[in-house]
Amino acid sequence: DGYRAPHPNHRQDRGAEQTEGSRFDESLPLPGFANEPDTNPALPANQAWARAALATATPEWLAAQPVPPTVAEDQIDALVGRARDAATQWAARPATERATILYRTAEILSARRGHLVSLAAAEAGKAVAQSDPEISEAIDFARYYAHRALELDQVSGAEFTPDRVVVVTPPWNFPIAIPAGGTFAALAAGAAVIHKPSKPTPHCSMAILEALWEAGVPRDVCQGVFPDEGPAGRRLISHPDVDRVVLTGASDTAALFASWRPELRINAETSGKNGLIVTPSADRDLAIADLVHSAFGHAGQKCSAASLGILVGSVYSSERFRRQLVDAASSLVVDWPSNPSATVGPLTEDPSEKLRRALTTLEPGESWLLKPRQLDSSGRLWSPGIKDGVAPGSFFHRTECFGPVLGLMRADTVDEAIELQNATDFGLTAGLHSLEVREVRTWLDRVQAGNVYVNRGITGAIVRRQPFGGWKRSSVGLGSKAGGPNYLMLLGTWADRKRPS
Ligand code: GLU
Repeated sequence: DGYRAPHPNHRQDRGAEQTEGSRFDESLPLPGFANEPDTNPALPANQAWARAALATATPEWLAAQPVPPTVAEDQIDALVGRARDAATQWAARPATERATILYRTAEILSARRGHLVSLAAAEAGKAVAQSDPEISEAIDFARYYAHRALELDQVSGAEFTPDRVVVVTPPWNFPIAIPAGGTFAALAAGAAVIHKPSKPTPHCSMAILEALWEAGVPRDVCQGVFPDEGPAGRRLISHPDVDRVVLTGASDTAALFASWRPELRINAETSGKNGLIVTPSADRDLAIADLVHSAFGHAGQKCSAASLGILVGSVYSSERFRRQLVDAASSLVVDWPSNPSATVGPLTEDPSEKLRRALTTLEPGESWLLKPRQLDSSGRLWSPGIKDGVAPGSFFHRTECFGPVLGLMRADTVDEAIELQNATDFGLTAGLHSLEVREVRTWLDRVQAGNVYVNRGITGAIVRRQPFGGWKRSSVGLGSKAGGPNYLMLLGTWADRKRPS
């Protein structure tokens, strides 16, 4: 799955799309699954479409958009009770009905792509080039899990009992795709969902919920809420009638949830510290483009981002490689999304302590190849930084910093590079740029990561083609992969056929 084929359909003209109407005919069986096309930014009509979406995305406009209601600790029991009651009927509906509703949801999201781009820009600072594929991914999740629901229904018979109440707690870095994916999967499996948006991005979450309700998901089957503060959140997560929590976020959050309720079932995709290895045999131009894109896309705020460039032998010592890498990173246009030329936007939140340390300090042995600069007084707009000489075992080698900093490490051999990559506590994504088949095989055998990419960037997993999830501290729970064939099977319990009666 390492190679990314050209996108299946990268031609859609968003201007024309508005008049096409729904492509989904409910009188027929579900169409076969195909990945939704991204918007082709080269077409003038699409550029006009993107400019209009960005012009809409003012703070005043955002404030007028709906968000899920805030609930207090003493309202949590009633909320969970409603979900639990609604779940019985939802699970009893034929899988084809749930699948059809998800297909309808996909159509609604597709028709609202411009609105979603506006929300992601206004709320999360996402550049169109970053939010547009995320919308395709959300649409893919709806259709893909619809198919898996039908399949699960056929294979499982009476063996599978879906969870009744699943709490979905998405992150803010993919404010559309991840809230959508977790919610759609649980609904497809037959569970009721309580969706708790990430604090910075409630409007994007709400847009997903509205699409579901309009498509026919009953309100109590999928509720969106903001616990008003710590105790309400804790009450929700540790509620005995919550069967499972689906979390994408920091590994510390997963640990906190587990400490609240040790027997809680959590499916969590957590932090990463991901490296991309470049060997002397690599196509260096391609490697540089992929390093820059993977490290600095959405200002590095992805669990999947490349934060280590592990350069083998002559690549590390090549002045030309460094110069080209710096040139490529410097050519990114870093600005607020209201600038349609911006390729990298602001940080969604003020930098954490870890990120501030990564952006402003050098550890022993390190030097700046490209020093990050704060570009305005907001504290959130940073030009990309590249550190050279990151030492094995150092702070930057081991710590996820979640921002626009790439650290270069030196390895004398491919074996050593793999060791450096595996030495972190995490194992989410990893990349190798090499044109030597033997190197690729060795790396594939030994690399400890959930998503491994050869001669490709390491972000932007595509539903079905690159199911997404990690190893080691990047994953908690049973660890099946989002957007992959087994994901729904984990959202419930299986009768044990071998148990003696
Ligand atoms: N699925 C995303 C990707 O492949 C990353 C999700 C995350 O950052 O949590 O880039």
